[in-house]
Amino acid sequence: IIEATHLDKFYGSFHALKDVNLTVRQGEKIVICGPSGSGKSTLIRCFNGLEWHNSGELVIDGVEVHENSKLMRGLRQEVGMVFQQFNLFPHLTVLENLMIGPMKVRRLSRAQAEETARKYLDRVHIPEQADKYPSALSGGQQQRVAIARSLCMETRIMLFDEPTSALDPEMINEVLDVMVELAHSGMTMVVVTHEMGFARKVADTMVFMEAGEIVEVSPPDTFFTKPSSERCRLFLDQIL
Ligand code: ATP
Ligand code: MG
Repeated sequence: IIEATHLDKFYGSFHALKDVNLTVRQGEKIVICGPSGSGKSTLIRCFNGLEWHNSGELVIDGVEVHENSKLMRGLRQEVGMVFQQFNLFPHLTVLENLMIGPMKVRRLSRAQAEETARKYLDRVHIPEQADKYPSALSGGQQQRVAIARSLCMETRIMLFDEPTSALDPEMINEVLDVMVELAHSGMTMVVVTHEMGFARKVADTMVFMEAGEIVEVSPPDTFFTKPSSERCRLFLDQIL
């Protein structure tokens, strides 16, 4: 469903992605890890048009993606993203945060959007928070609202960029649990995270990046026990 071949990306003269090749299949769960600055965010931001590659080819759901605003609209309807910072609208209630995208982008009526919003708020286990403002919620609850907001767009692919790294430790699991449930529902997911417990539970494929390159791509059992690259092994030694 995502096919990246020979992707290169520059920020000015800085080479942020170097000949990146990656395939994401329908329903697949890919977990990407690697040191700070290795290009993890840059790569997944290319997958939903927040960044553009400079060369190589990126095909998402059969469509070749490049810098073009018309494609962009289609892409955003296929690919959702959850960030480290929740980016909720502070002046809207939880329910309104969930309704605004579907009404504007998917052109649902108010009633349809509310039904969708309540459905996904149930899915992340906080139906009782519907009428609160984001500031009245815990970090874990806010991140679950952000996940529900992305689910409301009913995209086929969901990207997560370190979704738990801004959370207090006691709230990490409530968010990871929702993500595990989502994984079991069959969603195609690309997740940047260093939560290796989560990775072991859901990942079909592990990816290790360093200095803009994909250094290792392997199934979790190989990845955690006998990674082929020394750099990956050293990294895992540090974080496990
Ligand atoms: P982290 O774990 O810290 O989130 P990352 O692996 O997600 O790191 P990226 O954010 O993709 O790394 O950044 C890769 C490199 O590109 C870094 O060296 C960063 O400084 C650089 N970079 C990222 N965004 C920009 C930008 N908009 N302009 C210039 N350089 C950038
Ligand atoms: Mg990042």
